[in-house]
Amino acid sequence: MYLPLKKKTNAQKYRPEWENMDEFKGWLKLTSGNSSKAFCTYCSTEILAKLFDIKKHAETKKHKQKVEFKTGNKEIPFKVVPKDHLFRPCGDSEGALTLFIAEHCSIYVLTI
Ligand SMILES: [Zn+2]
Repeated sequence: MYLPLKKKTNAQKYRPEWENMDEFKGWLKLTSGNSSKAFCTYCSTEILAKLFDIKKHAETKKHKQKVEFKTGNKEIPFKVVPKDHLFRPCGDSEGALTLFIAEHCSIYVLTI
């Protein structure tokens, strides 16, 4: 009697340590409830949880554009102001200038 050999398939599963790899850091996550798929938070798309497929996705034009867009937005560095400094009375001109900027200018313009 002939028994056909079963083709061995290597079903890969998502590995959380991939999230810590420099090339995947910040955008790769596990698709909820399915360990055979990964999720790109930048592109909002699912990828098969194979290292080759994830690397291939990372090289796509669409993904690179999303990464550039996300990382291109710089955070505004706010300094920590001591509490006693917050309640220091300021002059009318300083207050008026602050209110003018808050009302008429976007924050992005202030960082340039
Ligand atoms: Zn992506």
